[in-house]
Formats: sequence, C-alpha cells, structure tokens
Amino acid sequence: MNFRQQAITEISKRTFSKFDIPEKKTSDYFASEVFTRKKMQEYLSKEAYENIISAIDYGKKINRRISNQIALGMKAWALEKGVTHYTHWFHPLNGATAEKHDSFFEPTNDGGAIERFDGDMLIQQEPDASSFPNGGIRNTFEARGYTAWDPSSPAFIMGKTLCIPTIFISYTGEALDYKTPLLKALNLLDTEATKTCNLFDKNVTKVISTLGWEQEYFLIDKALYLSRPDLVLAGRTLMGHASAKDQQLEDHYFGSIPDRVANFMREFEYEALKLGIPVKTRHNEVAPNQYECAPVFEETNLAVDHNQLIMELISKIANKHNLKALFHEKPFAGINGSGKHNNWSLMTNTGVNLLKPGKNPKSNLQFLTFLVNTIKAVYDNADILRASIVSPGNEYRLGASEAPPSIISVFLGKHLTDVLNDIEKKVTDTKMTPETKTELKLNIGKIPEILLDNTDRNRTSPFAFTGNRFEFRAVGSSANCAAPMITLNTAVANQLKIFNNKVNELISKGIKKDEAIFNILKEIIIESKKIRFEGNGYGQEWINKARKIGLSNIKEMPDAIKAYISKESIKLFVDNKIFTKRELEARYEIRQEIYIKKIQIESRTLGDLAINHIIPIALKYQNLLVNNVQGLKNILSDTEFQETAISQIESIKKISKHIHEIRILVKEMVDNRKVANSSKNLSDKIEKYKNNVKPYLEKIRYNIDKLELIVDNEIWPLPKYRELLFLL
Ligand code: ADP
Ligand code: MG
Repeated sequence: MNFRQQAITEISKRTFSKFDIPEKKTSDYFASEVFTRKKMQEYLSKEAYENIISAIDYGKKINRRISNQIALGMKAWALEKGVTHYTHWFHPLNGATAEKHDSFFEPTNDGGAIERFDGDMLIQQEPDASSFPNGGIRNTFEARGYTAWDPSSPAFIMGKTLCIPTIFISYTGEALDYKTPLLKALNLLDTEATKTCNLFDKNVTKVISTLGWEQEYFLIDKALYLSRPDLVLAGRTLMGHASAKDQQLEDHYFGSIPDRVANFMREFEYEALKLGIPVKTRHNEVAPNQYECAPVFEETNLAVDHNQLIMELISKIANKHNLKALFHEKPFAGINGSGKHNNWSLMTNTGVNLLKPGKNPKSNLQFLTFLVNTIKAVYDNADILRASIVSPGNEYRLGASEAPPSIISVFLGKHLTDVLNDIEKKVTDTKMTPETKTELKLNIGKIPEILLDNTDRNRTSPFAFTGNRFEFRAVGSSANCAAPMITLNTAVANQLKIFNNKVNELISKGIKKDEAIFNILKEIIIESKKIRFEGNGYGQEWINKARKIGLSNIKEMPDAIKAYISKESIKLFVDNKIFTKRELEARYEIRQEIYIKKIQIESRTLGDLAINHIIPIALKYQNLLVNNVQGLKNILSDTEFQETAISQIESIKKISKHIHEIRILVKEMVDNRKVANSSKNLSDKIEKYKNNVKPYLEKIRYNIDKLELIVDNEIWPLPKYRELLFLL
C-alpha cells in the first residue's frame, strides 16, 4: 500500500471524537481565562485598578510600584487557576505569534521554592530573538530585543501558561513586530478623529477603531495532509488534476455542517469563548471543505490579537480531531481560495458608530464627513493599502474572479453615490443660499431611511461600504490583520488631520462651520471620485477603464511591496511617526525575503515530487503497458496488432513525452534557482525568482496533472483532489 491508500484506509476506519460543552450557558464560561476588568477589580487594590484602567483607556503610564501590585494580583489569579508558567506573547514579522515560557517557580536559599512574578517580569522581557525577521535592523551580534507589556490587551491563560500581550522592539528602539506601529496608528486616529467629532459634538473625548474579521479556512483529514508533502511544506497543493465535481453545484455554501466538523467547531469555539473571543457566526463557505468563523467586532488592537489567537486555536483543536486546518489563500487550484474580510469602523466614547447614518441632519453630516474622508484616504493611499495585504498566497486569489481584483476601488451603493453627487452639484464656493442649504440638509437627513433596507451588496469590491462599516475584502486568510489595519487607520487619521486643518482655516476666515464643512467635503468628493466604482469588479471592462483613468493594477507581490518605500509611504508613515524610514526599509526587505523563500520552498518541493514521486510511478505504469504491448505482439497477427495496440502505444508515447518535459523543466528551474541565489542584491534576486523560477511551477504541474489522468489510479502516490476535497 502506498501512502495515499494507507491514508484513505485510515480515514474509513476513523471514529470521530465528540465534544460536549461542560457548562450550561455561554455566560458561565465566557472570558473565564482572561484577566478582565472584573477580575482586576477583584484582585487589585483600588489604586492599582484605577491606574491600569486609565492606562487602557487613555494610555497613561504605570509606575513601578503600581506594576508590582498588578503583577501580584495577576499572579494570584493565575495560581488559583493552576498556572505554572508565564510568557510575553507577541507578533513578530514572520506572521505567527511567539512566546517563550518561563516558570513562576524560583528556588530559595533554604532549599525551598516560591512562585515569583513581579512588576519587572510583567513589564519587560529580553527574548533572545535574533532569528526573528528584522530586515537587517539587528545584526546577530546585537541580538537583544525586548518585549514590553501592552496593558490595552488583557492577559490570558492558554493551557497552564499566563500570556501577557506585548510589543517587541530592538534595543535601539525600532519596532520588530506588528503591534508597536498598530498602537501608534490607533493613537493617531484617536487624536484626529476626536478633533473631527468635536466639530459636531464637544462631548466626544475618544474615538476607537473597530474591527470585525471573518476568517475563512479549509479542513482536510490529517492522514491525507500528511501524505501530501506539498501541503506539509508549502501549505498549498503544487499539483493535482481538477476533481470531476468541485464547487460547480454550489451545494456546500451555507449547507449543513458535517458532524465531525461540527464537533471540532464546538470545541474550538468553546476554547475561544473562554479566552473572551466573541465568536458568533460559523458556516460553510463556497468551496468544498471550506468554512468561516466570525466574531462580534471589537476594538482593533484586541480584535487583531484575537484573530491571531483563533488561528492558533483552530490549528490546535483541528489536530485533536484528526483534521488539518489550511489558512493558505489558495490551497487548491481552480477552486475558491480563502480570505479574511476586515470589517472596519470608528466608534466614539459616547457610543456612536461614526460610519452609521445618524438620526438627524447634523449627525448625518458627521457620518458623511467620516465616509468621504475615508474614501479620500483610500484614494490617496491605494498602492500602500494594496501593499499591506499582499502575500505570496494572496497573489493567487486576488483578481481570480473569486476575490476582489488587484485594483483598489471603493463601493458605496446607489443611494450614497446619489448623495455625494448631490453635494458635488449643489455646494458652491460662494455663499450658499439658505434654500440650497435646507435642501441639502433635508436630503442628508433622509439617508438613514434610504439605507435601512437598501444596503446594496457588491461582492466584487475590495473596499465596500456595507451600511454601517467598510469591508476591506482583499485581506488574505493567513494574514495578520495588523498590517492592513496599520495602513488604513494611519491613512484615515492623516486625511482627517488635513480635513480638520482646512475646515478650521475656513472658519478662521469667518465662514460658518457647516458651510466650511460642506465646502471641504465637496472638494474631497471631487478629488477622490475616480476611486469610486459601483460595477462588476471581475469584468474586463473595469480593468480597461481603471487603466484609462489611472488607477493602478499591481498583480504581483514583488511589484506591490515597492509601495512600502515609495515617497508617499515615507511621507505618510514617517511624518506621522508611525514608522521611521529605517523601519519601512526593514519591512520591505522582510517582505522581499518572505517572497523569495516561499517560491524557493515551492520550487524545491515540486522538483522533489516530480522526480522522486511522480516519474518513478509513471515509469512503472509505462513498463506495464510496454510488457502488455510486447505480449500482444506475440499472440496477435500483424494486422490485428496494428489495429488494436495503437492506443496503448499512444499512451506509452504520451507518458514518455511528459516525463521528458518534466525532467527538462525541473533541470531548467534548478539552474535558474542557482543563478537567482547568486544575485548581488535582494531586488535582483526577487526579480529572478519572479521571472525565472516561479513560472516553472505551473509548467511542471501541467505535465504532472496530465500524467495523473493516464496512470493507473491504483498506484498513483499522492491523494487526488477528489479525496482532499471530499473525504472528511
Ligand atoms: P457578511 O458575511 O455579510 O459580511 P458577517 O456577519 O459574516 O457578515 O460578518 C460581519 C462582520 O462585521 C462581523 O464580524 C461583525 O461584528 C462586523 N461588524 C459589524 N459592525 C461593525 C462595526 N461597526 N465595526 C467593525 N465591524 C463590524
Ligand atoms: Mg463580509
């Protein structure tokens, strides 16, 4: 039996592990593993509690004495729950999360032991993290970096470990993670958006960014996964002929969830809820074996942490159920890939969603202000936003008529489009007549009723308004949401800053406030008009039109990430103190390296599969045919032989042809890789990988997939698409 047959046999014998939630109600266990505000109140002195709350809500500093108190309270809580270790938990730039566990246990001089955890251990750690990606910021001889506590994301318990969310920075102060710049961006957004709100309402003192992600993933049986080296090493299939049936009947989407999967979901959702992740929605996705999970939205920093945690939980719990979760954006060719829609909005401390039309003309003008400024921010920073979501996997998904195109555009729906057109037409530079003003306000006043039942949906837009939020749909399923959230929040904050200044300038010239706001809105609406697109984003017409009006359509990652270090990016991020120029360059370099390494791994894996797995089997089958033909020749007359053996001989020739091509292509690919590896610099190397290595993946695959159709099913070594997609 080969690996494939063994895997299938194993699956047919599986008994599925059931999972029942021990508690009766969700509220009995929700956030039981989190050091929530309620627990802080219980375990901390009043003084310590007040200090940490103002640190969370207003970024106030916590002094050493207080941090010692907080550490003691946290330790007491954790020990009661049987925790033995603690770790600083952070998001390095390789996309995963990292942790280094230390024990609370400390031996004492008298031969005994105590559990120690003090303020210093809470606030700062020095993981020797020289091998995390740093884009040359830290030479390995200066390997020290340190992690520092982020009190705005609560500590939690995983297994027997107390996890403390932290930022991760180099000794020279540069950020080596996603969280540091994210916190800076959210802070800037708070400052600028609060100022904008104050034009309408003086009671607003804080604005937070909210994020609700929708996580898509595939599940396959672990035995099948383990018998596909390409899935194990590259996270996606590098070969495999299309299955006779895949998603064409659309019978999986929102279909009933198989028992085995439902058990797995119940268990990981249970674990997620205990960690305070408010998971709410689960359903089947479009492709077979594809699923989605979505929580209720939260403050962005927390939502990002929770998304990283849930990916970890999904992987861990899947394993327990003999399943493997695939987060790759395109694990299977020819079938929909996976994304992670980022639903984004802004919320004030007074509880107002700034992207939700309000109850009266004044609050609707505030809504329009945030809407229009967001559109402008996307228009001005389209390439930077595109760069924030690109990854080797996402390249296969975007623009493949299943996910938004690589062209960044904004969808508003007919009614809001009409409102913006109305402002464009009616607002004048000279003083508006009272009638026009009333008319405008009346129209704006009607927005909520119009939108109530009319939020159009346009599934093909990368950035769509959906009634009370924007949905950034181009994000990949494996991404850390922080990357797009840093860019979006910085871009919007920067735009609000420009808006605030312009409005205040007009006001200082004696123009009335709402007239000033209308005038600047009109200006922005006109300037950013090109980015608005209501039609079919999958159509060729849009691609043509976008080219004509000058919107960029950057398809491949090596080109897209150049925007990291563009003039615009440096201006946006450096001027606003989110990144230094050095940090941007480092991030660019890290992205380049990731691309090169991923293509290198795929290329090596496919080379090995082709030469060591596929060709030997193809030869074996070909020999069978050759023997058969020789036998026929012995027993048949010449004419009989000519008439009947011809198709066998054709097959033999076809197999030879594909084997020959595979050998040549693999050799060329390896040679090109060698040349690429000896490049002088990264930019040269990435171009070579993109142009001279990557194209071979498709060409080699083509020949392997043809062989799959010819060779005896019995001996084909790797699980086929129909097995990967339908056996659970
Ligand atoms: P759909 O698939 O139709 O887009 P889902 O219900 O799967 O809808 O996901 C919607 C997501 O949008 C949820 O995570 C939800 O919490 C989130 N969301 C709703 N309102 C907001 C908001 N104001 N800010 C951020 N996210 C939001
Ligand atoms: Mg959605």
